[in-house]
Amino acid sequence: MARLERTPSGRVLADLSGRPVRVHDANVRRASGKRAEAGRTERGVELSSVSHGKPARPGLTWGLACTLVSLSLATGCATPGPVNYYAKDPPALPTLGEEYRLTLIDELAAGLVEGRIQLVELIEDRGTRRVSPIQGRSADFEQFPLAALQAASLAAGSESCGAELDVLVGTEPGVMVKVRHDVDESLHVLMGRAPMALREGEHSAVALKHEFGIGPLIDHGVAWSDADRRALGTALALLDREELAYLHDLPFVRMAGAEDGEHAGFFHVGQGAEGGRIILLDLAFGSDGQHFVGPPERAYPRSIFVILHEIGHAVAELDRIMLIAIFERDRARYNDAVVVANQYVDALNVRYAVVDRLAKSRDRLTVKRDIRTLEKEYRRIKRIMRDAKKRLEDLSDKIQGPPPMTVAYGALANAKLGPTHYGRTSIDEGFAEAFALYHLDPTSIERFSPEVHAWFAGDHHLAAALYPPLDAFEPPPRSSAAPHTRSEP
Ligand SMILES: [Zn+2]
Repeated sequence: MARLERTPSGRVLADLSGRPVRVHDANVRRASGKRAEAGRTERGVELSSVSHGKPARPGLTWGLACTLVSLSLATGCATPGPVNYYAKDPPALPTLGEEYRLTLIDELAAGLVEGRIQLVELIEDRGTRRVSPIQGRSADFEQFPLAALQAASLAAGSESCGAELDVLVGTEPGVMVKVRHDVDESLHVLMGRAPMALREGEHSAVALKHEFGIGPLIDHGVAWSDADRRALGTALALLDREELAYLHDLPFVRMAGAEDGEHAGFFHVGQGAEGGRIILLDLAFGSDGQHFVGPPERAYPRSIFVILHEIGHAVAELDRIMLIAIFERDRARYNDAVVVANQYVDALNVRYAVVDRLAKSRDRLTVKRDIRTLEKEYRRIKRIMRDAKKRLEDLSDKIQGPPPMTVAYGALANAKLGPTHYGRTSIDEGFAEAFALYHLDPTSIERFSPEVHAWFAGDHHLAAALYPPLDAFEPPPRSSAAPHTRSEP
C-alpha cells in the first residue's frame, strides 16, 4: 500500500511519477489557491513558472522600447568596415556662401586621404561626375555644388566608412544630399531635392481608421496634434494591404516623452492591451525639421521612420500575441485537468484508507476493484498532463524568444550587422529598423544586404508568420450580372 506523505497543511502529496497521490509540482497550483492580479482565481501553471527566460505572467506586459540612437561619427569602423549600413540623424547643415568653397575642398581632401577613398562620384539630374584618385586638393571639386562638398566632407573620414547619410543642407526647405561612404573605398554623393512634406488631406482619427483599418488614436497625457496624425497617415500610406492587416484595430497612443529623453516609441502588450498597442512619445516627432530618411528626391521626416519602426514590431509580434493566447487557453485546460487529477487522488486516498481495515469480504473486493479502475484512469490523466505540460513548456520557450518573423530575418546575410547601429542591439530591433528603412528607402536596404531587400520585396517577412491575419481579404465587388440582380428590359 502507498505511503502517503502529509504536508504541514495536512494535504496529501507525492511526486508526478509516484503512487497515485495528490499532484504536486512547482508548476501546478490548486485552483483554490492565491488570487491572480486581475482578481480571478489563479489557475495552476503560470507563464513564468514553466519558462526559463525573462519573467512574464498572465496579464503579461511585453514591451519593446525603442531608443533613438543618433549617428555618432566618432564610432564606426576605423578602417573599411565589414558592411555598408545606414547612419541615422546626421546633423543638418547651414547653407554656405562661395567664400567657403576652398575651405570645404581642403576639409574634404583631408577626409578623403584619411579615409583612403579611391573614387568620388557626384550624381546629379544632369549627369554623373567621377573624381579619382584623390591626391590633396583637386580642381575637379570646383565644379561640385557647395551642398555636395559639405555633405561629402561630413562622410569622408575613416570613422564613417560603410555609412550612408541623408543630410539636409539649408532650410526652408533646403536640399537633401545623400552620401554613401562604401566599404569598397568609394564615396557617392547624390544631389536631391527639398524633403517631402507630410501627407495632406483629412487626417482625423476617424479618417485614419476608415482608410487604414487601424484602431483608435488615444491621447495619454498629450494630445495627438494635426501634424502627428498627418505623420501617422504618411507612414501608413507606405504599407501595402497585407501589412496593414497586421494593424487591424491596433490602437496608437500618444504620450509625453520618457524622463530619460531617449525613447521615441514602444510596442507594448499588456493587461488591457492584450492585442498590443503602439506608443509614440514626443521624441518621435521632435526632429522632423532636421532629420529625413529616404532617397534624396523623396526623403521623409524622421517621424515616419519611427512610426514604421514601431509598426515593424507590431507586424512581427502578432505571432507572439497569438502564442500567448494559445498558451493561456491551454494553461486553463491543463489546470482544469489538475483539478480532476486531484479529485481522483482524493477518491483513491479514501479507498486506500479503508481497504486494509476491511476484512476479507465482498466489500474489500469491491473497493480493490474500484481502486484498480481509478488508478488506471488516474494514470491516463497523468500521461495526458505530462504531454500537455511539455507542450506548455515548449510554447513558453517560443513566447520568450524572438517571434518567427525576426528569427527568419536574423538568418539573412548581414542581418545581425545592421542595417543601422541601433539595429545591431538585438534581432528584434534589427528587424524593425530594416522594416522601416525598406519602406522608406529600399535602395538603402539593398546596399546593406541584397538578401534582406529581396526578402522584404518578395513578402517573405509575411510568409514567415505563424499566424498571419486574415483581414487582408475583402469580398469581391458586386457584379451587375450577379444572379440575384435582374435587369429590366
Ligand atoms: Zn524598437
